[in-house]
Amino acid sequence: MTKVNRQTVSYLSRRFEEVGLNPNKRHGQNFLIDLNLLHLLARSAELNKNDVVLEIGTGMGSLTGLFAEAAAQVVTVEIDHHLHQMAAEELESFDNIEMLKQDALKNKNQFASEVIEAVQRHLAVDPDRVFKLAANLPYNVATPIISNLLRSEIIPATMTVTIQKELGERLVAKPGTKDYSALSIWVQSICDTKIVRIMSPKVFWPRPKVDSAIIHIVHRPERRAAIADLDFFYAFVRSMFFHRRKFMRSVAVSAFKNQLSKPDVDDVLNRLGHGADARSEQLDVESMQTLSEAFRQKVIEVTGVERPVLANQS
Ligand code: SAM
Repeated sequence: MTKVNRQTVSYLSRRFEEVGLNPNKRHGQNFLIDLNLLHLLARSAELNKNDVVLEIGTGMGSLTGLFAEAAAQVVTVEIDHHLHQMAAEELESFDNIEMLKQDALKNKNQFASEVIEAVQRHLAVDPDRVFKLAANLPYNVATPIISNLLRSEIIPATMTVTIQKELGERLVAKPGTKDYSALSIWVQSICDTKIVRIMSPKVFWPRPKVDSAIIHIVHRPERRAAIADLDFFYAFVRSMFFHRRKFMRSVAVSAFKNQLSKPDVDDVLNRLGHGADARSEQLDVESMQTLSEAFRQKVIEVTGVERPVLANQS
């Protein structure tokens, strides 16, 4: 039986009224009020007593409590100090929750080091501990949270999160579809992705304008190990989709303008059988990886630089 109050509309509105506040739109404060879905999210995270769970967006702590009951340790991060305070009261009977009151992101491209360090500290307790992300994410920062975690020193074994449906569709999109994007390739190149449930706005309080989805992402370390230079690949994919409707050749000529001549670019594309009319959105994940590696090798060959860096690489 959960030790946390049931997160219903009447409970939430009463708590907000008590502190004289309204949910903050800017911070994506849309609380999940369907108790079945709260449990579905927690169940889909497949937590067990070896797991260290990172939750971004403690809110009022209702998911946090469910995670803490199933896992070894929870690290939960909340940017809003009123919510942090209210959740601390809710969760005081737990001894396996570390609550951080801060922005989970240092900037768009980086996680806050305090968050990564807290997770690392709890992982270090036992070599069998496994890192997982589980959260009802604030939608305005869902993409940087997912993509930055996949580039961090510690990659979660699984990510089970509520995000905008549109973003969920991009994460599972296949080549040639309208949702297929740099993010689809980046995430699918190192993970399996699946949509667990589509949810209407009415399961949140206050209601967001868009549909949402619970997604489950499973990290595949063997795929990651097969990518020679992850930072280069990340930057390459983003460059190739910057002008997604343009022909790949002109996008590549511009991305490598400081490193490769047009004949160099043509050489790589011809060798891999990509004609003049090829577009990035037609390439599957594997072909994009092969192409990225071929360009990386070409830059090494032409410039002699051991670790090539693209202009947009951070
Ligand atoms: N976990 C609660 C639930 O499921 O009902 C609340 C989820 S609500 C969608 C997102 C929460 O993330 C809000 O409490 C918001 O204040 C917090 N938040 C927004 N941006 C954040 C950030 N950059 N770092 C940490 N927390 C953030």
